[in-house]
Amino acid sequence: MPRPSTALIDLDALRHNYRLARQRHGGRALAVLKADAYGHGAARCAQALADIADGFAVAVVEEALALRAAGIVQPILVLEGAFDPQDLRQVREHALWTVVHHEEQLRMVELQAGAPLNVWLKLDSGMGRLGLPPEQARSLRQRLQASGRVGQLTWMSHFARADEPQQPTTAAQTERFDAALAGLPEPRSLCNSAGILHHPGSHRDWARPGLMLYGIAPTDGDKLGLKPVMTLRSQVFAIRELAAGQPLGYGALHVAPRASRIGLVALGYADGVPRNAPQGTPLRVGEGLAPLVGRISMDMLMVDLTDRPEAGIGSPVELWGPDHDIRPLASACGTIPYELLCGVKRVPVRWSGGQG
Ligand SMILES: *Cc1c(COP(=O)(O)O)cnc(C)c1O
Repeated sequence: MPRPSTALIDLDALRHNYRLARQRHGGRALAVLKADAYGHGAARCAQALADIADGFAVAVVEEALALRAAGIVQPILVLEGAFDPQDLRQVREHALWTVVHHEEQLRMVELQAGAPLNVWLKLDSGMGRLGLPPEQARSLRQRLQASGRVGQLTWMSHFARADEPQQPTTAAQTERFDAALAGLPEPRSLCNSAGILHHPGSHRDWARPGLMLYGIAPTDGDKLGLKPVMTLRSQVFAIRELAAGQPLGYGALHVAPRASRIGLVALGYADGVPRNAPQGTPLRVGEGLAPLVGRISMDMLMVDLTDRPEAGIGSPVELWGPDHDIRPLASACGTIPYELLCGVKRVPVRWSGGQG
């Protein structure tokens, strides 16, 4: 029997979440599939959304080319833009859309011959990471128009704190962006998942949902009708009986406080489970919960099943998925769901559903 650990990807849930994102925002929506669709398999996800998505977004040109090779003909926006003129040539040859977020990229666009490009000009409305100064919007626009190298121009910016709905920064960024573009007719795009779900005042022509497509809410609490797409699952594959006082695993991190029944689960840090997951973190075993005990090792982890006599070898374990929210686990590990999803490795990925 193969190791019973798998990442199951529910493409019907993905379609549901995309529709929900598009409907909550209004206008059009690029499904963000960077980093192999946050660990869900970019080609399979793009194919499953191809008949309903307005387009896709990835971080870099290589990711876009992989989607083209998988038969994706819809628009694909490259969020980091071109790294060099060769990159930009690929953008043109494969009819990609590209972000321009700094002067160097703008010059590349101005200087390169060939068919006009669809450019998303990125302004830094307050995040302080990527983007050109909003005050320059009009002069940048003039330069691009004069170059004759640009087909459709779209304005974009990105939020720093949209997942903190109480913070005033998102409204401030929106205001700064709109002020810089007052009177300009081109379409605009601001919202990531948290913007779509928590900042209706920032909805513009295009949304850019990522995390919510995968069924994860960007904040604690309400799941907002989202359906988790990935189930990372495994099984208990061995049981150990420990006497009181007996140590368990590397570093003897856990010492049995009483006679204990320990279940070994076939997932470890080589599969993407963070090694720093604290003991006591509740994991889903069968129909109930069981606390993580001991040090997570490369290939396995341990749960205390002393109070779960009905659980044993073969009991299913869901590390995250529809029956076990990824958010609390991520916080317990000092990280965010994005990093856990992107970090899944080694386990086979299986896709289901996704037909329109
Ligand atoms: C990754 C990314 C998104 C998607 O963000 P989520 O929080 O996952 O919805 C949107 N826009 C840009 C520019 C991004 O880099």
